[in-house]
Amino acid sequence: MGRRLRILFMASEVEPFAKTGGLADVAGALPRALAGLGHDVRVLMPKYRGVEAVAGELRPVAPRVRIPLGDREAEGVLLEGREPSGVPVYFLAQDHYYDREALYGTSDGDYWDNCERFVFFCRAGLEAVARLGEGAAAWRPQIVHANDWQTGLVPVYLRTLYRDHPGLAKVATVFTIHNLAFQGVFWHYDMPMTGLGWDLFTPAGIEFYGKLNFLKGGLVFSDLLTTVSRTYAREIRTSAFGNGLEGVLEERSHDLHGVVNGIDYEVWNPAKDRAIPVPYAADDPEGKAACRESLRAELGLEAGSGPVIGLVTRLTEQKGLDLVLGALPALLAEGCQLALLGSGDAHLEQAFRAAAREHPARIAARIGYEPELARRIYAGSDGFLMPSRYEPCGLGQLIALRYGSAPIVRRTGGLADTVTEFDPARRSGTGFIFDAFAVDALLDAVRRAASAYRQPALWRALVKNAMTADFSWEASAREYVTLYGKALKARSAR
Ligand code: ADP
Repeated sequence: MGRRLRILFMASEVEPFAKTGGLADVAGALPRALAGLGHDVRVLMPKYRGVEAVAGELRPVAPRVRIPLGDREAEGVLLEGREPSGVPVYFLAQDHYYDREALYGTSDGDYWDNCERFVFFCRAGLEAVARLGEGAAAWRPQIVHANDWQTGLVPVYLRTLYRDHPGLAKVATVFTIHNLAFQGVFWHYDMPMTGLGWDLFTPAGIEFYGKLNFLKGGLVFSDLLTTVSRTYAREIRTSAFGNGLEGVLEERSHDLHGVVNGIDYEVWNPAKDRAIPVPYAADDPEGKAACRESLRAELGLEAGSGPVIGLVTRLTEQKGLDLVLGALPALLAEGCQLALLGSGDAHLEQAFRAAAREHPARIAARIGYEPELARRIYAGSDGFLMPSRYEPCGLGQLIALRYGSAPIVRRTGGLADTVTEFDPARRSGTGFIFDAFAVDALLDAVRRAASAYRQPALWRALVKNAMTADFSWEASAREYVTLYGKALKARSAR
């Protein structure tokens, strides 16, 4: 191994402590993989309500920090715990901001003070880390790896307010975009609260159509940028995917890298999964058929000779479920059954509920968030459908591969980078891919899947290909290490 790097990984949500989406999965697994490669990585997140129930007892590790927020001040303290594999996790405690029912808001909308809450996280978090330990026990990161809009001001602070700070001046910054659609945009009246000068409130800085944009701060001020797949890294430089930031990203395209996410192969393992009725593995796949029959029984689906197609997803516009609704009659005519688990937009929930009521023996729609049922769907389905409009990386298809459920995906973002089209002649490939965002294109891919499914020897080959594809974290963690080295070089050259 090369040099042992000191890395501070900052994120607003981290598995197993707090999660609303894929960011938490990455923030849990990537530091663990980096530690596995021998690096000194530590994680920093807010101390939300309920963290102790998972983390156990926490102890203060730095003096309290006091941060100006415009004409007010707020105080916080850094507590230390560990995630299950032993990576140190620092929790920034400030109960007025973080001891709440949810992370960012409720069904009534985002919390009104999210700007203040995450200004505080960025700034107080950095100050507290700079005061960690005394003398020999002091710990100073060489690299700060920030993620998504909630930590977008971290690179800005490091290059401005903390430019000459003895503990932070030389730190290199890497910023990862997990979803460009969420940018942390606030009105300009919040600018004084950031403590940053108005000279930064320009199109070349953190101003965005008259407002303050946290994510843009991360994009402009970091030494290096990454996003969670190569294809998404290309796509976000175009107006179709750039959410208004395509110009900034194009300008920084030489510093923008795609590194695909992995999944934790211990957490997702059909040979050891306690939530599924019968374990199975790539070299011993027999149990999968029993998982399928058990899933059918659990969801009230009839026995059948066609494939069971699974969907486990947020029910939102991004996920392209309107295509699935449009394709339903033809999917049934093709002999497929559908097992859907999801929650989200009311009109999608209703539409899938209605479809399941109409065809209870062929379509099952469970509305809710149920991690164990999700596992039984991955295990019990033959195909796994993700017709997303856009998909920065996507974890569903990676889990589906691991569980031998052939992904049927639209060619976008991480879906394009992780699934390869099954070629019956060569018996190569892991799933089925379509290009156009159109019902016919989706149906064509499903028909290719159903046709392969009717030829058991072919299908066995496909399942084997899927289950032996390797999307564990190690390879991706090595790519991040290379990029950290690049960021350090870029910083010392500046
Ligand atoms: P996104 O982060 O955009 O929601 P991903 O595919 O990257 O999409 O990750 C989604 C993760 O959340 C997967 O692990 C998936 O299994 C899980 N998931 C989504 N919806 C549900 C649900 N209703 N119940 C259980 N797990 C879910």
